[in-house]
Formats: sequence, C-alpha cells, structure tokens
Amino acid sequence: MPYATINPATGQTEKEFPAHTPEEVEALVARATAAFAEYKGTTHAERSRHLVTAAELLEGEVPDMARILTTEMGKTFAAAKAEVAKCAVALRWFAEHGERLLADEPVTTAAARSFVRWQPLGPVLAVMPWNFPFWQVIRFAAPALTVGNVGLLKHASNVPQTALAIEDLFRRAGLPEGVFTNLFVESKDVAALIADPRITAVTLTGSEPAGMSVAAAAGHALKKTVLELGGSDPFIVLTSADLDACVRTAVTARVQNNGQSCIAAKRFIVVEPVADEFSERFVAAMDSLVVGDPFDPATDVGPIVTEAQRDELVNQVETARRQGVTVHAGAPVPEGDGWWFPPTVLTGVTSDMAVAKEEIFGPVAMVLRVPDLQAAIEAANATSFGLGSSVWTDDDEEMERCIDGIEAGMVFVNAMVASMPELPFGGIKRSGFGRELSELGLKEFANAKSVYVA
Ligand code: NAP
Repeated sequence: MPYATINPATGQTEKEFPAHTPEEVEALVARATAAFAEYKGTTHAERSRHLVTAAELLEGEVPDMARILTTEMGKTFAAAKAEVAKCAVALRWFAEHGERLLADEPVTTAAARSFVRWQPLGPVLAVMPWNFPFWQVIRFAAPALTVGNVGLLKHASNVPQTALAIEDLFRRAGLPEGVFTNLFVESKDVAALIADPRITAVTLTGSEPAGMSVAAAAGHALKKTVLELGGSDPFIVLTSADLDACVRTAVTARVQNNGQSCIAAKRFIVVEPVADEFSERFVAAMDSLVVGDPFDPATDVGPIVTEAQRDELVNQVETARRQGVTVHAGAPVPEGDGWWFPPTVLTGVTSDMAVAKEEIFGPVAMVLRVPDLQAAIEAANATSFGLGSSVWTDDDEEMERCIDGIEAGMVFVNAMVASMPELPFGGIKRSGFGRELSELGLKEFANAKSVYVA
C-alpha cells in the first residue's frame, strides 16, 4: 500500500492505507474549491476562533498526538511532545496577529487614496515531509488558513496517521469540511494535481529532487511556489566562544530529531586555537548519548526513519573513511530489529570531500578545522545549501562579519538554529526559496492587491 506506518524502532508495519482513487481525489478537490468560496468570506475573528480551538484541543492531547509521531517516524517521545506543543503556539500566534498583519496598508501616491489589500489565493497544495510531521504541516496551515486560503495536504507516505490526525484536528476545531483536506496521493501524481486549474499554489518541504520536480510542475503551470529544502548548516566555533555552552548546544543541534532535521548543525567549523579542545569534548559528549527505544525517557537518540536512510548513512560514513577521515562512534546501539545508527563525529574533514557537500540526514557530525574567521566564513559558504547557520563568539566584530558574510537564510549567534512563529524561516541557494512563518510567511500565499482610488 502506498501509505503505511512502519515503526522504525521495530521495523514492523503497523497500519496501511490505500491511496485515494482518482474519483476520490476529484471529489476532495471539488469540495475544497467549494469550501474556499465560503471560507474566503469569513471574518478574521471566525478564522482565529477556529485556530485557537485547534490549539486548545492540541494542548489537551499532547501525549496522544505525540505517540503517533514517535510510532511513525521514531523521534523521542519527549521531542514529539515538544513538537505538538509548539504547533499550538504557532496556531495561537497566527490567530492573534493575523488580522493586524493582514490589514489594509495605506500607501502614499498621487491618488486620493491608495493601499494594499491582502486577499487569499484559493486552494493551496502542501507536499510535506515526515521528519517534523506535525509541525511542518501546521507551519503551512496556520498562516494559509489565517489568510483565508484552504489547504490540501499530500503528506509523506510514512506518516499517514499523523496526516489523518491533523485533518481531524481541524475538523474538530470547527473548520468547515473542505477547508483542510488530507489527500492520500502518490508523489508521482503530484504534478497532475499542481496542473489542476483549481489548485492556485503549491508549497513543498522536502529534498532537492522533490523540490525540483514540484518546481518544474509549478513552473509549467505558472503557479506560485514556496520550497523548503535540504541544508548542511555550518556551526562556527570561534576562539572567544563559551565552550561549555557551545559543546552542549553542538550535540543537541546535531542529534535533535535523531539527526534528521533540515536545520540540524551538520558542519562544525572550528578555528585552530580551540579545535582540539572542542573536538575532544564534542566526541566525548556524542559518545555518551543513549541510543534506543524512543519511548524510553532515558533515550537521547531514537532510530533512523527507514532502513534505506540508515543504509545511506552507512555509505556516507564509509566513503568518508575511505577518503582518510577519522570516524568516532562510541555509543552502543540496540541489537536486533529497528534501524539504528550511533552518534558519529568525523574529524579531518575538508570542504572538498563528498561528505561535506552532501546533506547527512542522521546523527553524524563533521568537524572542519580552519585557521581563522575569514576561512571559517569561506568554509561555511562552500556548500550548495543556504538554510541556517550558527555562530559562537563573544566578539561583536566577529559576530557582525558572520552575520554579513554567511550565505544563509538564517544566522543564530550563540544559539542553535530554531524555528518560531515570529521569525521568517527559509533558505537561499539550493535550500529553496520563499519564507514560512512570521509576516512574510503569512503573505506568501496572499494576493497583494494594489488599490488606487483617483
Ligand atoms: P522527500 O523524499 O523529498 O519527501 C518530501 C515530500 O515530497 C513527501 O511528501 C514525498 O512523498 C514528496 N515527494 C517526493 N518526491 C516527490 C516528487 N518527485 N514529486 C512530488 N512529491 C514528491 O523528503 P523527506 O525524506 O520526506 O524529508 C527529508 C528532506 O526534507 C531533507 O532533505 C530535509 O532537509 C528536508 N526538509 C527541509 C525543511 C526546510 O524547512 N527547509 C524541513 C524539513 C525537511 P512520498 O513520501 O510519498 O515520497
């Protein structure tokens, strides 16, 4: 079956779902289109009420929802609960700020009156990944529904129960049928959906190949697109860094979500004077992590999402080893079923190696030694990606040079990269285009209608 819950901690298939038939897809798209005709006329107060109700429901159901996430994709139960709680925060933020941010914006021109009015586009298709299966969808849906669009979700094929839970959440929150719709469609059928004249825009969070495919289909159909793709975020450690906080955060920044995060720190770029101390402490901290059952509160790192993804990590690390990289991987992993990979640190990595150019989607960190700040910025930029970046320094001038010089959508100083409703989230280069969250995200799927009254 195209959609299935396959528990990564056991390898067992727990539940399967057939794809919607073409007739069912047609009926669901038609229903969404009809729902938009009504929903676009609702007031901000009505939309906000539904989003707040969804937040309240979520807040009361955190463990139940989190259990689905952990079972379907293996993140620790603690991380799953945090993800669900964060979704409620985002729903509340857009409910609270939507009306103000979407108010008419007066503009001074030669006219008696001119302004910009923000209006919804229509049904928006969201193609979403499994790694933050609740958050990624809410991150799209909260702003899209706040503007007055209706949403159609094509979720990753390994998180079907999460997709259904989100659809059910919005239904229970009082949104009319068709305002948020889950479609069980295969990725090969996404292009046809994008071509459907009733779909007005598409957003994808996922890998580069999926991004290229969706962007090509959207380009062909001349439709607005937002792409949130992969990353190989640099984590720059400079001489004045507070190494205690830096090493502690480096570990979390790499292994959060079992290492499967687009904004995980992946390349640890360390200047010579602190490189030995950082590497030693970082390797020791990574080796001390507990790998195992994601429902066990003692676990730091759960399983890798699929067998294929675990095998890909094995290949990437072995290729690096053959190129002369030193592999540090001391933490034991469970034997038997499930797809496990130990927290790993690669030292002796240089920017020209394959491992430094690819996205490593698992708990594998690489350390690159550089002589100074300028070389650190150059190494940070020696990638086709440009999503997030983290810089550790106590020096204002170094901080400014990094903020200016790093090619990325986000720079976090003395903190790991994170997403939050207030700040725009997104990347440049091959990490995608467009922004989610914040006022910018809210307006990605809105028509900025210029009004000129002579
Ligand atoms: P993926 O394989 O690209 O899948 C993402 C979504 O796209 C899934 O729903 C998938 O459906 C669908 N898809 C795959 N190929 C497609 C195609 N050719 N046409 C249309 N849809 C297609 O990515 P993933 O493995 O789920 O997620 C990991 C990737 O997402 C990483 O690269 C990560 O960095 C990136 N990511 C980026 C962000 C960000 O905000 N920048 C956030 C999270 C993750 P199926 O499951 O049915 O194949």
